[in-house]
Amino acid sequence: MTDCIFCRIASGEIPAEMVFEGDEVLAFRDINPQAPTHIQIIPRKHVARIAEFDPASDASWLVEAVSVAARLAVSEGLDTGFRLVVNNGALAGQSVLHVHLHLLGGRQLGWPPG
Ligand code: 5GP
Ligand code: ZN
Repeated sequence: MTDCIFCRIASGEIPAEMVFEGDEVLAFRDINPQAPTHIQIIPRKHVARIAEFDPASDASWLVEAVSVAARLAVSEGLDTGFRLVVNNGALAGQSVLHVHLHLLGGRQLGWPPG
């Protein structure tokens, strides 16, 4: 998907501060961080939104993504707490139509989200 910004990051066409590059998943720092740690964890394959999740073809990247999130939480020093967020659709504030897990931490996070 050449018009998808996260596919262009995955292909290397657009630079990003990578923190993990695996077989099926990439992780890079958010360009507009909302917390001291704000990392995007994405599948290499284009999936527009988590509502389109297909267990038959998406289970393996999701397992890798959650595993990477847990490991990054340790390496980022987030032992006192972190949040994994997937926004889906306009009302949730999804602005990039390529599934991404936000890993947020390093400050007190409010609940419920605004
Ligand atoms: P969403 O609002 O879709 O849940 O989250 C999209 C996230 O992607 C936002 O936090 C935004 O700052 C981040 N983002 C958008 N464009 C880029 C980019 O070109 N590079 C990086 N590193 N992050 C981006
Ligand atoms: Zn994409």
